[in-house]
Amino acid sequence: MQIYAENLCLLSHRGGTLSGRGKRFPALRGNIRRLVYIGRRAWYHCMEDKFQADCRASLKIKREKGWVNGKMIVKNGKVFDENFDLKKTDVSVRNGRIAEIGPDLGGGESLDVSGLLVAPGFIDIHIHGCAGADTGDGTREAISAMAAHLVTNGVTSFCPTTTTLPEETIMKALAAARDCVERPPEGAAVRGVDLEGPFISPRRAGAQKSEYIRKPDAGLFRRMYERSGGIIKLVDIAPEVEGADEFIREVRGYCRVSFAHSTADYDQAKRAFSLGVTHVTHLFNAMTGLSHRAPGAVGAVFDSGGVAAEIICDGFHIHPAVLRVAFRALGEDRTVVISDSMRAAGLADGDFDLGDQMVRVRDGHALLPDGTIAGSTTNLGAEVKNLVGFGVPVRQVIKSATINPAREIGADREVGSIAVGKRADFTVLDPDFNLRYVIENGRIVFRA
Ligand SMILES: [Zn+2]
Repeated sequence: MQIYAENLCLLSHRGGTLSGRGKRFPALRGNIRRLVYIGRRAWYHCMEDKFQADCRASLKIKREKGWVNGKMIVKNGKVFDENFDLKKTDVSVRNGRIAEIGPDLGGGESLDVSGLLVAPGFIDIHIHGCAGADTGDGTREAISAMAAHLVTNGVTSFCPTTTTLPEETIMKALAAARDCVERPPEGAAVRGVDLEGPFISPRRAGAQKSEYIRKPDAGLFRRMYERSGGIIKLVDIAPEVEGADEFIREVRGYCRVSFAHSTADYDQAKRAFSLGVTHVTHLFNAMTGLSHRAPGAVGAVFDSGGVAAEIICDGFHIHPAVLRVAFRALGEDRTVVISDSMRAAGLADGDFDLGDQMVRVRDGHALLPDGTIAGSTTNLGAEVKNLVGFGVPVRQVIKSATINPAREIGADREVGSIAVGKRADFTVLDPDFNLRYVIENGRIVFRA
């Protein structure tokens, strides 16, 4: 459970309890599990549901070591280097960038991470919502709330993702995301937008609302692209739908075109890949499966070297054995871990909405009333831990949550690996892959 508290009174926190002016919220005392600073705001992760209320007051937040932009050294960690090999070394950060990597660095505040793993910040390129907010809300506040929450899961970059909604609603969401790129809110950085609808197949809509599905329309895409200020990084298409070929040819120069929500068989999928579709949205979900005489879209992806595949790794959307097989078959450069999470992620079970439809979340599983899976409530931090537990090689797991998604959205020169000059975004994990620290843009934004 968590509470978002704006400008909350807080003088200090020790042993998980509030003190000082926090006494204004006596009900919170003793219920704080962890605390996250995001700019002038704080997130409280509480033990009980009854505190799911807005707490507002005025005040200051204690400054953390390394909080201020400047120089900081992450010392003694086992660091995933640019090739994703683990090396014991120090990393120095200056003004939000990685300045130096090497042994025995000095000359600044340091954070000792002995015995811990230092990975690049995670990048979620397919996420509808979390922490009660959804991209489709179409507001800066919604995307800001997502950004603030995501760093608590190790995610330092993300692409807010639209669902199949009316044109005007999508336009509003695009404008809000654009605003968050131009005036970044605190928390994970918005690296672009993923357009999951509306150019998909009504026959494989999944949890996308059929009545808002549109025929492939490059003109409409261009209007959306313009409205977004050019930040659309991915657009989904069902290639068997009439008009899809022209759409792919026209749009592939703007952003990556992704195979999604489709009834296409193996041949149709292969043809789409030859036309310029280079990405696949949530492999296995909402597409034809693999069987020995009908390889389906899934078989076409395995069989096409240049296509990257998003995979939801909560262990519920896809069986762990299938995850192992898929990660092995695709190799370490083509797998992209996504959350595909909706607004219930990070909250307790309840009833929510996704893309204009009611979604019930029970035991963390998000379903439409008819039982269709409706997004997830997971996050990349949890998925990384899952995958390692399922037996997927660590190096592939980390690449799939960092450099691979960065490459898919053209952000790999800026983020996605630990290299001099790149943004200082790190997730620091313990040997069991639990999050210990998150450093975003050179600042500690989360500590467990
Ligand atoms: Zn989705």
